[in-house]
Amino acid sequence: MTNKGLLKEWQKRLGLTDWRIALQTDCDPDEMHVIDSAGCVSWEESSKTALIQIIDPKFYGKRVVPFDFEKTLVHELMHLKTCLFYDNKDELRERIVHMFLDEIARALVDAKREMPPIVKEDDNNV
Ligand SMILES: [Zn+2]
Repeated sequence: MTNKGLLKEWQKRLGLTDWRIALQTDCDPDEMHVIDSAGCVSWEESSKTALIQIIDPKFYGKRVVPFDFEKTLVHELMHLKTCLFYDNKDELRERIVHMFLDEIARALVDAKREMPPIVKEDDNNV
C-alpha cells in the first residue's frame, strides 16, 4: 500500500477522517520540526489540520528498533487523537505521553499485521 493509502486507512481506523492531514515523507532531518525523531506532527486543533513529517529511512540510522513507516505514522496520528490532553508547560508529561503513544502505536500495527484486513463498507457479506 502507498504511504497516502496507509494514512487514509489509519485515519479511518482511529476515527480521524474529519482531519485534513498533509503527509511529507522521506524528510531530511533538517526540514523536520522535531530534532532526532523518526516522525513529527504539528497541528491546529481548531481547524483540524495537521502536517505529519516522516524521516527518510536513510537518515534513521542504526537503532535498536528498525525503522517502521507505518508504526511511525500511527504514532503521529495518535498525537492528533489525543491532542486535547496536552499541556505544553509540562515536559515530563509530554515525554510520558510520547512513550505511551509509541507502545499503543506498536500494538495497533502488530495487531493489524496479524489480522485480516478490515472488511470494506461496500461488502454485502458482512
Ligand atoms: Zn510522539
